[in-house]
Parts: sequence; structure tokens; C-alpha cells
Amino acid sequence: MNYQKFYQASIQEPETFWAEQARLIDWKVPYTQVLDHSKPPFAKWFVGGETNLCYNAVDRWLETQADKAALIAISTETNSEKTYSFAELHTEVQRMAAIMLSLGVKQGDRVLIYMPMIAEAAFAMLACARIGAVHSVVFGGFASKSLATRIDDAKPVLVVSADAGMRGGKAVPYKPLLDEAIALAEYQPQHVLLVNRGLDAMKLQQGRDVDYASARAQHMDAQVPVTWLESNAMSYVLYTSGTTGKPKGVQRDVGGYAVALASSMKNIFCGNPGETYFATSDIGWVVGHSYIVYGPLIAGMATIMYEGTPIRPDAGIWWSIVEKYKVTRMFSAPTAIRVLKKHPPELMRKYDLSSLKSLFLAGEPLDETTSSWIAEELGVPIIDNYWQTETGWPILSVARGVEAKATRLGSPGVAMYGYNVHIINEATGEECGPNEKGVVAIKGPLPPGCMQTVYGDDQRFVQTYWSNFAHEQLYSTFDWGIRDADGYYFILGRTDDVINVAGHRLGTREIEESISSHPEISEVAVVGVEDKLKGQVAVAFAILKHPALAETPEGSKALEAAVMAVVDKQLGAVARPARVHFVGMLPKTRSGKLLRRSIQAICEGRDAGDLTTIEDPSSLQQIKAALSH
Ligand code: AMP
Repeated sequence: MNYQKFYQASIQEPETFWAEQARLIDWKVPYTQVLDHSKPPFAKWFVGGETNLCYNAVDRWLETQADKAALIAISTETNSEKTYSFAELHTEVQRMAAIMLSLGVKQGDRVLIYMPMIAEAAFAMLACARIGAVHSVVFGGFASKSLATRIDDAKPVLVVSADAGMRGGKAVPYKPLLDEAIALAEYQPQHVLLVNRGLDAMKLQQGRDVDYASARAQHMDAQVPVTWLESNAMSYVLYTSGTTGKPKGVQRDVGGYAVALASSMKNIFCGNPGETYFATSDIGWVVGHSYIVYGPLIAGMATIMYEGTPIRPDAGIWWSIVEKYKVTRMFSAPTAIRVLKKHPPELMRKYDLSSLKSLFLAGEPLDETTSSWIAEELGVPIIDNYWQTETGWPILSVARGVEAKATRLGSPGVAMYGYNVHIINEATGEECGPNEKGVVAIKGPLPPGCMQTVYGDDQRFVQTYWSNFAHEQLYSTFDWGIRDADGYYFILGRTDDVINVAGHRLGTREIEESISSHPEISEVAVVGVEDKLKGQVAVAFAILKHPALAETPEGSKALEAAVMAVVDKQLGAVARPARVHFVGMLPKTRSGKLLRRSIQAICEGRDAGDLTTIEDPSSLQQIKAALSH
């Protein structure tokens, strides 16, 4: 089919278009209205319809493929591999759901999931979906303060966690961080359900902590019926960083999300029932929600959950998985491919990769060198796709399930159906012409699957995302971009203070707040600096209360390590800056605003930009001097 026609239909007649896509999932009760856009920018999809994400991911496949693989949990850290058929997954999810119910979880209650990449994490997500509880998965790499903020915002009645994860052969304890987070939080969850993997001794808190294995043993024959939910009921909250220090809870619905996933699995990811899908992300990120857990299962595919690094025991590990499980579609991030590129290609070439039909890459800009290298090695199309936690599925890509449109190097592709994408001049609010740089914006209604609102804060949703342009209420992606004359887009970085480290989205303000809590720091600026491997890394410039402490190289090194340790402890190693430099002054405007962009430019060896408002130009010299040390 002609993609242009498909796209136009989605924009011009969204109700007819999405009614057709809605047939890809099972509904218990049909909807009465495809779209309610009476209170823009809020959009309600499939109003009155009742469905369930867990039913569509698991139960509906029982009739035709109960014994086929559904979840393949592989850990190269514990050297374990286990395949759950759809029937077995159904059983485990019901056990988990029964445990949750026995711990008092009710429809609409939040359950926080802080888990390594183990099968139980998927059971927990699906169990929440089954009983209508709202999950809030927190990335396992985040530490106590990040967790505490999310506990206080989501107020979960239950936390599901584990003794530890493992990375690079070392146990990474979860339980102590969780205990610390609960101690820091104002809100107290009633129960903590813990999977004991035997990796790190746990001290259970009586009355609060529950051992998963014992609880499971009580519910071996559990049968927990699906709770049918109105399409616009809440399915989950997933926190993401923005301009302020406080992460936003991206809230998602049930029916629209299920339809968007089923539709994107068909039209963009081209997955078929009975095939195997391998997304290398983590359940703590949106890719993990959409394309490790829900999307592939809704499409009747087996999905791989992988705990481990791309290079252990060697850089052939992912490709050995592709061979063994006959993976047809794989999804990863450019950083992972850049890591693999540093290893001998023979490690990849020794496996039979003939099952693989395409590789999808997302989360950060895909550079041409990486893209061309992996395309050559694999001999399959490399499909870049651009989207955000907020949208839940690709905004830009090529929908090869509709038409085998060509990809273009350096471009994530064209606007995906349902997304009315525009490039807007930030200053004038006018639409940009071809190849003219502006902000990537989307005209509402956002298609099914996108965020409903900021959890608990409708006003913040409107204020943050929909109030950035002069003439029209448009959704801002906070990314710079251009569109060429053929409709291919190019993404040119964020317009706000969000940085992207190895595909992980981090707010520089959060890192600054954490660093400021070190007793010796009086002020700090954190910027994202270009990095060959990770895309960007965080670099901090701090002013000390007692500058003499950093006068010697030893003193400076010790303080740098101490500041990094604070970030590790509070936010997690993912947020740790690559360097902390100590300066006497930070570049600011006369009104006291930090000139982060100028600092970033200097770090990247570029011109510092417009400095007409700078208070003291010698502050820039200090940044330069610090970098040369
Ligand atoms: P997240 O919400 O963590 O998925 O981060 C979303 C942000 O990552 C976007 O706003 C972009 O800045 C960046 N991003 C995601 N995918 C791509 C891509 N394919 N190309 C360039 N940037 C991307």
C-alpha cells in the first residue's frame, strides 16, 4: 500500500483510520466513540470500550498457541535461560496477580516495580494490568533518592523488588537501596514483595516485606479473572526527566495503548505470531514497556528478556541468541552497536543470522558510520525510529509493513501515521520551510498510545508540553529538527536541559540538585557533552565553599570522587558525571541565569554563542582553563 495515502488517511480521518486499527485487539465491550477531543489537548480514545492489556498479551493466544514460547528469560549473569509458553506465562501471571490481591492491591492502586531483568518483572507488570492496578516501573540503575521521589509521587501500596540484579559478573544489591528510599520517602508502601535470587542476603522487615517464593507457593492454582477496564483507565505511570529537577509521571491508558502497540507491531515492526522478538532495552525504560513486554506479546510473538551486557562472555552473545531463538526482529540502541563495533566482527559472523529480517535502533541519534557498519555486517535493513517516553511508540520511522519505503542515512524517517508533525520556528511560532531548523512539534490530537497527562497534574501537562508556541496549541517534543523536501526528518538535539547518555534520558537539573547536596559545593552547572561512544556524557562544573580544598591535584581528585559518589548513591551510576571540574565562577546572565549552552559549546570546542547578556566574560576563561587541566 502507498504509505502517503495511509498517512493522509490517519490525519484527515483519524476516527475511521483508528477504528480500523482497533480491530487488531480484542475488546470485551465495544467502544461507543473512537475519539473524544472535546477538551484539547486531552484526547480520549475508544471511549466506552472495555479491554485489558494482559488479556490481549497473554489470554487471547491460549486458544491458538498455548504451547508456543511467550517469554524467554536469558541471563548471562547467572547463566540461566528459561522459556515460558503462553500457557505457563498465563499461570505465572495469575499467581503473581493472586499474591497482589492477597496483599490488598485493588483496581487503580499503584504498584512500584523496581526489578532487574528477570521473568518475575514481566509477571508483575502483566499481573498489574490483569487486575487493573497501575504499575510504575523504576529503572534498576536508579538509586535511593530517585526511587524516593517516585514513591512519593505515585504512592504505591505495594513495591515489587528483588535482592539484587547482576552486571558484569557482580551482584548489584537492590534491597538496601529500596530500604533507604522508603526511609527517605514521606509516603510508606504497605508491602514489599521480594524475589530472592540468592545473590545478596536480605533482611526482611516483619509485617512489611513478603518473600515471593513463599507467597507463590500459596497460590499455585490461582485463577484470577481479567478485570475489564474502560479504554481510558490508567495502565501505568513511567517517570521521565525534563527541565525541572522533579521527574514527570507519564500516564498512559489501556485501550489506546493496546491499539497503538498492536498497530505498530504490524505496520512498523512487522512482527508475526510465532516469531521471536529481541529488544535489548530494560523494562525501566519506555522501550521495555512497549517493545519488550506488551508489544511483542500482543502480536503473539515470543519476547526475549535479557539480563547482561552486550559483550559478556563476548561480543557474540546477542548474535548467538538471535541464532538459537531464530529472532526475526531485533531492537537496540546506537550506543550498544558502537560498543559492539569495537570488538572483532568474527564474533558476530560465526552465527547463523539468517532468521533476522531487520534491526530497529532508537533512543538517541544514529550516526551514519554506526548505521552503515551494522547494515553491512548484518545484511538487513537498519530502521532508525524516533520517539519519546511520552509517545509510547515511534513518531518518525519508516513503516515497512505498509510500504517498503527507503531509509535515509542520518534520518529516523518520515512522520508515522497518526502524528501530525510540524517544524516550528521557536521565536515566531511559524512553520519552517524545507531544511529550515525548528522545534519538532505535533498538532493534536496525539494518536492512541501517547501520554494521557502528567500523573496527578493536568496543569503541568498542558503547561509543559502544549504551551510553547505563539499561534497554536501544539505538542512540543523539545527536540530541534529539520524536514527535507521529501518529508524525511533529521533530529538535531534537545531544546531543553535534558541530556541523552547512551540512550538514557537524564535531566541536568536533577544531577545538579544531587551534586549541590554535597556539603562542600556551593553552586554547580551540569551540561551534556558529545561523546564518541555514549552520544553524550554529563560534565559538571562546581564552585566550592572552600576553594582551597581543590588547590592540589590530589585534593581535587578526592573531591571529584566524593561528588561522584553522592550522585551514585542518590541517583544511581547512570547519572554520574564523567568529570567534575572545580571553578571559581560560572558563566551567568546579568539576571543570574546559568549559561549552560555556552558551557556546553566550550566543552565541545565550539563558539560560545551569543554572549551579550553575560555578567562576567572571565567565567568562560575559567571553564576553558578547567578543561585544559
Ligand atoms: P526517552 O523519552 O528516554 O525515550 O528520550 C526521548 C528523547 O531521546 C527524544 O526526545 C530525543 O531527544 C532522543 N531520541 C530518541 N530516539 C531518537 C532517534 N531515533 N534519533 C535521535 N534522537 C532520538
